[in-house]
Amino acid sequence: MNDFANDGLARNFLAGSWAEGDSGAVVSIEDPGLEEHLVDCAQAGEDSLSRAVDAARVSFDRGDLADMNPHARGQLMQRIALEIRAIADEGANLLCRESGKSLSAAHDEFEEAAQYFEYYGGMADKIEGKSIPLGPDYADYTEFEPFGVSAQIVPWNFPVSIAARSLAPSMAAGNSTIIKSPELDPVALAMLGLALERADVPAGSVSILNGIGADLGARLVASSEVDQIVFTGSVPTGQAILRAAADTVTPALMELGGKSAAVVFEDANLDTVISSLQNGIFYNAGQVCSAMARVLVHRSIYEDAVERAAALANGLSIGHGLDDPDHTPVVSALQLSRVEELASTARHDGVRVASGGARLDRRGYFMAPTILADVDPASRVAQEEIFGPVACFTPFDTEAEAVALANGTEFGLVAGIFTRDLARSHRVARKLRAGQVFVNEWFAGGISTPFGGVGKSGFGREKGLEALFNYVRTKNIAISLKG
Ligand code: NAD
Repeated sequence: MNDFANDGLARNFLAGSWAEGDSGAVVSIEDPGLEEHLVDCAQAGEDSLSRAVDAARVSFDRGDLADMNPHARGQLMQRIALEIRAIADEGANLLCRESGKSLSAAHDEFEEAAQYFEYYGGMADKIEGKSIPLGPDYADYTEFEPFGVSAQIVPWNFPVSIAARSLAPSMAAGNSTIIKSPELDPVALAMLGLALERADVPAGSVSILNGIGADLGARLVASSEVDQIVFTGSVPTGQAILRAAADTVTPALMELGGKSAAVVFEDANLDTVISSLQNGIFYNAGQVCSAMARVLVHRSIYEDAVERAAALANGLSIGHGLDDPDHTPVVSALQLSRVEELASTARHDGVRVASGGARLDRRGYFMAPTILADVDPASRVAQEEIFGPVACFTPFDTEAEAVALANGTEFGLVAGIFTRDLARSHRVARKLRAGQVFVNEWFAGGISTPFGGVGKSGFGREKGLEALFNYVRTKNIAISLKG
């Protein structure tokens, strides 16, 4: 039984039941909008981890998901989607309070999570191989088979929807999955366990464990029983996980950070740019890997764009997530210090602060919605991921210069183009070093469009049909017919 709304303890969903922490270990989860304790979270240790790994292996070897009729596996996933919607109100309330995000953004996560199960559930019976002609003496075909045990490490900025983004294709392919929840906001993700339990997911085929990344997470990815790793998070953690994966030669999918740029040409519709900016850098207080972190604007409209962006930032409603304002706190005191430190470094370096620039003097971890102008493309604030509500504006004169600036970081997650010129949008999209390009609307696309990075933003793709093939491997079967 997991009744944390009433008893104040979020448990681990371990092999089909609810487990307290090893030796009763708990950590306190805080409401970042109030700077006060919200609930306790039970911490899994070595014992829980080995139970989850054993159960995942047994479930996989028994064929709980992999040998289930694929249509029935798809139906199971549709039931999960229904159960996610059934807990969405309670879950969104908890997610809002533990992460700081607005109530509607928290609802978006549960809705998106349900849609991932519907989308990939519909594919469970469509993972088709091919036949390869080898002449009259042979029959040859390929099959896609699941890896086995998939270990999935989830970040705090979208804990529910990112967990579903990886779990749904993993299940559709027939893998067993162990999810490590993020330290700062694990509670709503534990609720996903409730939906899995109510949908009758086979015990052991999915576990959700809470624990510290450098401890529980590191042990999980180093386990010799893990057949695939899916990591979403920061570059340094991704690098540490890749080193662990090298030791066991385990395939890994890496969804890492970003410092994405929008390129705004002189013929852009500025209304569209400003509404994209609101979503692009102020949604979830800018704690989005694919945030519109840099805005490169043609010099002829640059001052106008900066002025309108500052007016947008100054006009946002601010409050606790439960009041559903435009702008909410960041996730923790530490995150606020990191964001503020980068913004104040920029100020000392002479950047023009068109709006915000510092924390807000109020209860909760609020960074002011910030617009920095005339940002030097080589500076720290233009190169490092801030992961907060801070947009960096820089002017450009030519298309070639804009492309060079947009491509001028070590990241390459997404990019945007704002123009009315169709030919230019195609031409520039091809030149941008990014896994996906938005034209005239930041975040255009959805769960069916492939998402992932190049460079230090990672490799492999999530979302869309394409992602499914990250959760299977190809087996070729060649049969001699010669007698
Ligand atoms: P993080 O790297 O600090 O933590 C991510 C997860 O890794 C957490 O669950 C953490 O507990 C775990 N972890 C930490 N050390 C570990 C270790 N040694 N071994 C195994 N697991 C470990 O990142 P974060 O601060 O939670 O998230 C923010 C980062 O995630 C940003 O860089 C952001 O851009 C990135 N992100 C990327 C995507 C994407 O799809 N590309 C999506 C969301 C967030």
